[in-house]
Amino acid sequence: MSQPNTMSRGRSRAGGLRFLALLALAIAVAGLAPGRADAEAVSPVVKINQAAAEAEITVQPLRSNVYVLMGSGGNITVLTGSDGKLLVDAGIAVSRPKIEAALDRISDAPIKYLIDTHWHWDHTDGNAWVHQKGATIIAHENTLKRLSATTRVEDWSFTFQPWPVDARPTVTFKTEKRLRFDGETIVLRSYGPGHTDTDLTVTLEKADVVALGDIFWNGVYPFIDVATGGSIDGAIRLVNRSLAHVTDHTIIVPGHGPVGDRAQLIEFRDMLVAVRRNVARLKKQGKSLDEVIAAKPTAAFDAKFGGFVIDPAFFTRLVFVSL
Ligand SMILES: [Zn+2]
Repeated sequence: MSQPNTMSRGRSRAGGLRFLALLALAIAVAGLAPGRADAEAVSPVVKINQAAAEAEITVQPLRSNVYVLMGSGGNITVLTGSDGKLLVDAGIAVSRPKIEAALDRISDAPIKYLIDTHWHWDHTDGNAWVHQKGATIIAHENTLKRLSATTRVEDWSFTFQPWPVDARPTVTFKTEKRLRFDGETIVLRSYGPGHTDTDLTVTLEKADVVALGDIFWNGVYPFIDVATGGSIDGAIRLVNRSLAHVTDHTIIVPGHGPVGDRAQLIEFRDMLVAVRRNVARLKKQGKSLDEVIAAKPTAAFDAKFGGFVIDPAFFTRLVFVSL
């Protein structure tokens, strides 16, 4: 594993899939029944952290000097060059030794920037150590607000305490921000709320690589965080806005799942639109949440998208409550 540029995509993908399988098992063990009396004790957040502690970190070369690390919560995109490293997301803190080893295998350049795609802990839990290494943290202004407050996410049966001051972004923006680094032009764009109210996209223009954070879950049903501004309509809107900035040549890094392309992003969008339509029709007929879940409005997509953390019933509920 000392030569990341010789690693095959298949090998990296296998590592990613092993992590996903481990995670799915952890979630199954945890149970996702909302309102359980012992819910706090079995929060998926705790189980996902435990899965990350066990998981290996894989390195997948993308194009020119851009890589993706998989195995610690959300995918981590890495740009490296003479100016240093720029990371998109920081994963889960418990993975620090393995992430540092993986980064060292890519190059010995120091980490100078970290961009948080949104506030969720499986993307920002590593903020503190990455900042300690000297990185400036950039995020949407709402990410700073979320990381500065106590936040209850009922769907995860978990209350997040404010992030330590050193782990919060110090450079924020509202709609668009550009920076030059390692000979790249990096464009950050916010299209408003979708998965949360903190989402942004990161475009590396020269490499033609786009990191979408949890706007895109490649081949799996997504989480939609209604507690912090997410909704199915917002989720669809953000995918459509993102599609306007990619071509068939663009490599698209999702928040979860394997690295993808425009066709897969369109397939994800079409799934969201179809499930939304089915759930909305049933809800309009006056059906209860349980009745809508029993009607299996996701059935046509379950074989393809239903094998990860967010199972068909859970995804149906997320869509139902946000309509
Ligand atoms: Zn997320």
